[in-house]
Order: sequence, then structure tokens, then C-alpha cells
Amino acid sequence: MISPLPTELSTDLSTAAVDNQPSAVLRVALDMPRATLFDYLPPVGLTVAQVPLGARVRVPVGARERIGVVVESADHPSVSSSALKTIRAIIDESALFDAPLLHLLRWTAQYYHHPLGEVIAAALPKALREGAPAMSLTQNWRLRERGELAGLAAPQAPRRAPRQQGLLALLAAHPQGIAASEIAATQPSWREAARALEARGLIEHFDVPAADPAAGGVAPGGSTMQSEQPPPLSEAQSEAVAQVDAAAGSFAVFVLQGATGSGKSEVYLQCAARALARDQSVLVLVPEIALTPQLVERFRRRLPCPIAVLHSALSDAERLAAWRSARAGSARIVLGTRSAVFAPMPRLGLIVVDEEHDGSYKQHESGCRYSARDLSVARARQAQVPVVLGSATPAFETLHNLQRGRYRGLLLPRRPDQPEAPRLALIDLRAHAATQGLSLPVVEALRRHLAARSQVLVFINRRGYAPTLLCTACGWIAPCRQCDARLTVHRTAAELRCHHCGAAEPLPQRCPRCGLAVKPVGQGTERIEETLQQLFPEESLVRLDRDTAANAAELENRMRSVRDGSARILVGTQIVTKGHHFPGIALAVVLNADQGLFSTDFRAAERLAQTIVQVAGRAGREHSRGEVLIQTEYPDHPLLQSLLAGGYEGFATTALRERAAAQWPPFGRLALLRASALSPEAALEFLSAARTIAPEEHAVRLLGPVAAGMARRAGRHYAQLLLESRDRAALHRLLDQWLPLVGALPQARRVRYALDVDPIDIQ
Ligand code: ADP
Ligand code: ZN
Ligand code: ZN
Repeated sequence: MISPLPTELSTDLSTAAVDNQPSAVLRVALDMPRATLFDYLPPVGLTVAQVPLGARVRVPVGARERIGVVVESADHPSVSSSALKTIRAIIDESALFDAPLLHLLRWTAQYYHHPLGEVIAAALPKALREGAPAMSLTQNWRLRERGELAGLAAPQAPRRAPRQQGLLALLAAHPQGIAASEIAATQPSWREAARALEARGLIEHFDVPAADPAAGGVAPGGSTMQSEQPPPLSEAQSEAVAQVDAAAGSFAVFVLQGATGSGKSEVYLQCAARALARDQSVLVLVPEIALTPQLVERFRRRLPCPIAVLHSALSDAERLAAWRSARAGSARIVLGTRSAVFAPMPRLGLIVVDEEHDGSYKQHESGCRYSARDLSVARARQAQVPVVLGSATPAFETLHNLQRGRYRGLLLPRRPDQPEAPRLALIDLRAHAATQGLSLPVVEALRRHLAARSQVLVFINRRGYAPTLLCTACGWIAPCRQCDARLTVHRTAAELRCHHCGAAEPLPQRCPRCGLAVKPVGQGTERIEETLQQLFPEESLVRLDRDTAANAAELENRMRSVRDGSARILVGTQIVTKGHHFPGIALAVVLNADQGLFSTDFRAAERLAQTIVQVAGRAGREHSRGEVLIQTEYPDHPLLQSLLAGGYEGFATTALRERAAAQWPPFGRLALLRASALSPEAALEFLSAARTIAPEEHAVRLLGPVAAGMARRAGRHYAQLLLESRDRAALHRLLDQWLPLVGALPQARRVRYALDVDPIDIQ
């Protein structure tokens, strides 16, 4: 959240009153919720030109010292010279961020209207924000030069200290010094001896940049690592690789579109191999690491170079190590989730964004609300390299850019050895009653495929046992006390849980209002699992959702049981639609498609179609033609009809026409100002005041403010003001002028607010 900053900060930079000459200054971005840069004089004894742009520095801010990044220099300070303070220390001898990356960070701050210092901080591992060296260092030990005694006999250790004697002998044999790890290899428990000798002034330690462990195997053209042979490419794959390769050294955006299993990853791998052969490095973005261990493994097996993997589940130390090897250029491939788009990449040659439509590329919860997919395109443009956006179901923005000729399409048809696309059919829930969420035709299809020894997949986008706990006698429904939401029944855990704020309470047996028995209504994965187990007691079942696959290891265990065929029925949420290869699944069932048809969010239909197509992509991958059944109460709905008749493309054509008529993205541009407060009035008042002071810009429409779709969440009340325009420049002009005024509103003190440019969720 952006919140106003205490005003004293701007006035108390008051010490260094030296002379009245205008002085050249360095502008420093600090990790503070403020859009401006801070002016400082170079450290004593250095000129402005001697401080590298993109380096970290320690600067005084008020009474504290902070770490910031030097972003630019200026001939004249923007504050009075007498208020200027001096940089205390330079942390990095050379830029931490090279010029293109620094440029990307500035572009991000500008486009998303977010303080640069916070953008930079978010791009850095914690240890670097706190001043750790940009390179890893190893501790080395050596004999101390002993002034007048130098040249005399080696120092003596006490006779009865064999460890000290051994250590002295070892150091004497390595006059340049020897790494602590090497000492440890030959002399276990040497530390105590070292401390004793150091205390006597006989030996000393010093740090040197570490040989990056990741660097071990890099050997373009003469690898020490054994890499697996690639399969011969299909014609379409070769064509795709050739086009991307031909764009090397220039900016181009490719949309690699192909069903799951059509060979997109194979194209990434071979494009990456060619970039490596040119001695360039490759950035690969994936939606979620836990869901793509197979892709990581494939890169490892196939490419003869070290890979740095960057994602949110790393420890601070692991993230630091990965970042360092990326920056040192020893990891030639960086594979990571959203924030890896900011990874330092010397000699960047190619960017790949897998499953580019995936919502997790957009940060929409905190800090700078950036889209890593969009930033990867910006980064590719700045670095003049090609970027490949891969998906079976490209985002509408991406399709639109394709249609307008800004992006280039690479289509991968099914390979000859692949079965035909699965058959999609709707099950009309009005004609077939469902028991426990499963209609009779679905149960029959499940039975048929299981009898044929195939695997089946049941998709339901809701975890837990049931979404509602109801008292049929008095109508009471278990509510969350903190949110405008119902509590979800979790049977195994015997709890009621809120999926919005995380609140949990014991599952009651009786209605707290009238004392009669309560009952769970509706279905979640847990209940579907129970029902399927009753229907098919002899079949083994595995459930995949955030409750059963809480950690990567458990997720991988469960996925393996599906891959190797030991689990025959797979029940799961969105997790099952992402990036897995389950060759044995012949039938996929979508249980609740209707939520997406009537949502107030204009993107809901797009997401629904993507989900259905992705679920369908799991069916019939290597066996025979698969079957997909979609349960719905609205079989005539035009979106479902266009999806059935024309596939994702047909659906997208229909839906894009609707978007154009309504001027929704990608035909219009949106920005959403969200506010939350402890009272509903405060959030709305702030947004109304903000609306009143918005500069005149006739191309921009302001809609609202209104309470958010779910107005109360975790005890706070949310409201929003939507800005919409066909003209992106006009929208950003308005935002530039407006946001500083918004921050200065007195009402701003009573709320938390944040701007979301290109929001993907506007409910
Ligand atoms: P996608 O990324 O589109 O889902 P993959 O690249 O993972 O597709 O390919 C799916 C499967 O087909 C993988 O097992 C892969 O090894 C195999 N495959 C891909 N391309 C070829 C090819 N040209 N020849 C043989 N097998 C291939
Ligand atoms: Zn009751
Ligand atoms: Zn809640």
C-alpha cells in the first residue's frame, strides 16, 4: 500500500551546509513509500562521476542510516544546497544493476506509478537490501606477515597443540592463503586452533570472491556435463525455433500457441540451446515452481550449463545464492516465477514466458502491481532480444497484439503421434439431476473409463468439503466474522475456514441459533473425493488441492502416483490444470463451470474458457482420443457454445467482439484505485475526494467509487474507483498528475490505498 510519508523527512536533511555553490548530486532511490528520488553529495574525496550508477550506497535519512541505490546524477540539487547530506559509503564497487536492468526498474516504477525504491527493493534478495556483498565471498586464511620477523623461521606453535602445528604447516605451504573449506577438508575441528593462532597474531583471514559453485560445469562447446539428446523436431517446431533464432539480437515477441503436449517446451529448450551456443543467457518464467518441476528437470537434463532457480519458496540464503550466480553470469539460465523477471542477466539473449496467460504473473496483492508477462516484453525491448510467450490459451491481450501484427504467431499443431483433440460435451444439469454434485451421465462415463483401465480426472474449483454450512430449521449460515463471506466446511480437519482471511473455528454439530443439527451444502474437493470413493471403492484416488499438497514434496508425491498410474482417479482444483503430464487420463470432468458465466468480472469468461481447455488438455494425451464432460445448467450459453463449436479460438473471437463493444481491455485501458479502511464510509469518502480532484482529461472515464465485490475482508472495508480509457497515454498523464494530489488528501491518512494498473481482477 502506498501511504503518505511523515513530512519531517523532507525538512530534516539539514546538516551539510558547506557553501552556496550549486553542487552536482547523486539521486538515490530509497525503499520508502515515496515516489521521489533523494539528492546526496558524493562521499568525501569522490566526484559524482566516480560513483557508479546502479550501485548501493549508505546514506543518512533523518537520524537513521539507510541503504539505497544510486539511480542518476544531476548538475544541480533539487533541494537547497545547504540541506544536502553526503553519501556515507559506497557498497558496490561496480553497479549492482546494469544499465538495461536499471532502465527496466525505472520503467516499471513509471508504468505502475509505484515508488522506484520499493520496486528496487522488491527485486533484491533480503540480504542485499541489508547490504550483503553482491558476490559471494569465501573466507581464506594465511600466515600473517610479521614485519621485522619476516624471513625468519616459521612461527612455532606450542608443542602440545598438534592442531595448531598442523594448521601452521598447512598455511606455510599456501603462502597466498587457503579457503576455510579446504582447511576443513584436511583438518577437521581446526577452528579452535585458528582462533588461538589468530589471537597470538600469527595468522589472519581475508575474504575473496568465491568461485561460484554453479560455475563448475559451464563449458560451451566442450561440456563437462552429460546432456540428453533432443528429439528430432516436427516441421512446425523447427520452423518456430528457426524464427526465434533468426530474431536473435533484435526485439521480437513470439506467441507460441499449441495444445498441451504439442511440444512447446521442446521449442523453448532448443531456442535456449541456441542462445547458449551464442554465449548468451536465457530467462525462463513459469507460473509456479512447484507445478513445473518437470520443466526444471528437463532444462537441467538437456542443457549443459548451470541453472539458477528463483521462486518464493527459497530460503533467504538460497535466493541470495541464486541471484549472485545469475549476476555473476555463471548461471546461464535463470528459471523462476514472477519476480525473476528482475533477475540480473548479463548477456541476456532470450526470454521465455511459459503459460503466459496465467494469472500468477500479475502481482495483485501487495507492493507494485506489476505483470511479469508484460515486463518481460518491456525487458526484451530494452535488451533487444526476442521473447517467446507460450500457451495453449493465450490471454486476450496477447491475442489482440497478435491480431494487430505487433506479436508474431507460431502455431504448433498436434504432432502426428498425438491423438486428436479430446471430444468436449456439455451435460445439462437441468435434464440430469446431480447427486452429491455428480450427474448420472458423468458417473456412467467415469465407470466406463475406469472399467477400460484408464485414469480419470474430476476438476472442481473449490477446496474443502462444502462451501456452506446451513441450518435447515432456521436458515442460519455459518458466516466469517471478518469478511462478507461464508465459512467453508473442512471435514477432515473438523473446522470451518474462511478462504479469504484464513480464520478458522471448530466445526459445530448444532446450529448456534436454534440448536438443531446443521448440514454442509454444496461440494468441494473433499466431498467429491468422499463421493467418488463410495462409488468406486476398489479404485485408488488422489486429491490435489492446496490442503493435500501443502508442500512441494507432497505435491510431487501425489503427482507421481498419477503419472505412474497407481492412482486411477484424480480430483483437484486449479492445480491439476497446470503444467503436468498425465499421459493415462482418458476422461476429464469439469463439475462447476457456471460460476464463470455470470460473474461481474469481465475476465471471468476468459478464465473459464482457459480452465476448460487446460483441463481438456489433460485428457487423452498419449493414449487415444480423450473425452471431456462439462456439467452446466446453461448449456445454451453463447460462450460455452462458441467454445464447443470453435475451440479456444472460436470462443476468443466471440468474447473479444463483446470486449470491443464494451471498450473493455484489451480495447480500453484500466487502472483501479483500491482503498480499504476500518469503516466503509472512510474508504468511500477518500475515493470520492480523490475523484473530485482528478485533473480534467476527456479521454479518461472515472467509474465509481463503489464498494468492492466482497466489501469486507479480514475486518477491513474495501472500495474502488475505476479509471478507463481508450488512450493509454492520456490515462498515464492523468495518473502522473493525480496521484501526488491523492496522496496529499487529508482523507488519505485514514485509509490504505493502492493503484493497480492493468488490473486482472476488478470485482
Ligand atoms: P508442451 O510444452 O506443449 O506441453 P512438450 O514439449 O512438453 O509439450 O512435449 C510433450 C511431450 O512430447 C514430451 O514428452 C516431449 O518430450 C515430447 N515431444 C515434444 N516434441 C517432440 C518431438 N519433436 N519428437 C518427439 N517427442 C517430442
Ligand atoms: Zn438454526
Ligand atoms: Zn474471512
